[in-house]
Amino acid sequence: MYDAVVVGAGLSGLTAAHRLAAAGADVVVLEAGARVGGRVCSPSGPAGRWEAGGEAVDLANTRLRALADEVGATLRRSEVGWGDHGPAPVEWRVAGRPGPPDAPGYRRLAAEIARRAAAPEADDRFTVAEWMARDGAGMFDLAVAETVVSVTSSTMPVKWMSLQALAVKTAARSGAGDGAELRFADGAGGFAETLADGLRGRVRLNAAVSSVRAGRGRLEIAVGAEQLRAARAVVAVPLHARARIAGLPPVPTGAYGVAAKSLIELEDELPGAPTAVLTDTALGYAYRRDERSLGSFVGSTPAAWLLRAGRRAGDAAVAEAVRRAFGVRVSRITRVAYPRSYLIFTPGELRGFGARLADPAGPVHFAGAESSELPSFMEGAVRAGERAAAEVLAAQ
Ligand SMILES: Cc1cc2nc3c(=O)[nH]c(=O)nc-3n(C[C@H](O)[C@H](O)[C@H](O)COP(=O)(O)OP(=O)(O)OC[C@H]3O[C@@H](n4cnc5c(N)ncnc54)[C@H](O)[C@@H]3O)c2cc1C
Repeated sequence: MYDAVVVGAGLSGLTAAHRLAAAGADVVVLEAGARVGGRVCSPSGPAGRWEAGGEAVDLANTRLRALADEVGATLRRSEVGWGDHGPAPVEWRVAGRPGPPDAPGYRRLAAEIARRAAAPEADDRFTVAEWMARDGAGMFDLAVAETVVSVTSSTMPVKWMSLQALAVKTAARSGAGDGAELRFADGAGGFAETLADGLRGRVRLNAAVSSVRAGRGRLEIAVGAEQLRAARAVVAVPLHARARIAGLPPVPTGAYGVAAKSLIELEDELPGAPTAVLTDTALGYAYRRDERSLGSFVGSTPAAWLLRAGRRAGDAAVAEAVRRAFGVRVSRITRVAYPRSYLIFTPGELRGFGARLADPAGPVHFAGAESSELPSFMEGAVRAGERAAAEVLAAQ
């Protein structure tokens, strides 16, 4: 019988297992997929690894950075970023207009987000779009907000996302010019692999857990036809996956927006500028990786279109956006899409079910970024893993 079974080998489950193993617990990690990392993933490309999932590390990500330091995963200053976080010039292309947008309604939204970021108990009644409408913002203001929010904070349209949840998320960052500036030297996927390597054979891949049930003084965890026994379990999976594991208390599945990341290889060498562009097209936010490739992130409505359009039409739209923005031709696009990227709260959910996602159910503890106060950050995944491991150790 194990002291603890950890379900899910994303950053959260790996963090929990790392802490439990370090404290001497007999622990095993069960991962449904064929690799560790979950929503962090750093495949090999022509110029080294590229980031196909969680990537940006903020200076305010104290637990993530401490854990990286502890296991010897190197963080480096990022040469890319967005807006104030990256090298100039960042070119804007929103609603067909080039150049930095003159959008006073968007500036008022930014001020309101900053005000609320310092007031965590402010009301949670409005979506971002509702607040903007009440404030008298115009359609262009809304288009700018949609574009910025979809590449920085939300993979759901602003007509759904809670303004207060957006402010809380913004408050978790160090701020413009001083945040999201670090990257893992060997990719965030490399960090997950380092954590898994440190667990020395305690991670089982292709081991999807179908049920976690309490027996007499122990838990029974089903993996295929096999039943494992453990004193405690740490379930470190997204809400939609939690809902599919039998024996656990019911959980709302929440709103998970759409996102995609791409490595865009080029036929021609990139000119010096722009180094990055922010668009409302299927290209989303794209930045220069080296002379021959771009990285891109797209979320929300353009990402949903990209996923629905199919490979050919989607690639053609991205190639056209690259030609317009950077003046170069695309040779190949490698894309990783997330139909369910990360949890976005609608009004009322942050302090509603959001606040209860970490509650243990007897000997079953919950990790996963969703069970932290930062449900869409690697920092949240690490904090939740550490909290769940501490709960297990305290109960031993
Ligand atoms: C496109 C994208 C970009 C992002 N960008 C950033 C960023 O720049 N910075 C940042 O901080 N964060 C970012 N994030 C968020 C960050 O990646 C996640 O919050 C974090 O990685 C979540 O980790 P987790 O361990 O909680 O969940 P996951 O990574 O989802 O891990 C859960 C694991 O559980 C496994 N699993 C599911 N069901 C079962 C089952 N029944 N049995 C066994 N295993 C199961 C899954 O296969 C998965 O490996 C991004 C996310 C996405 C999708």
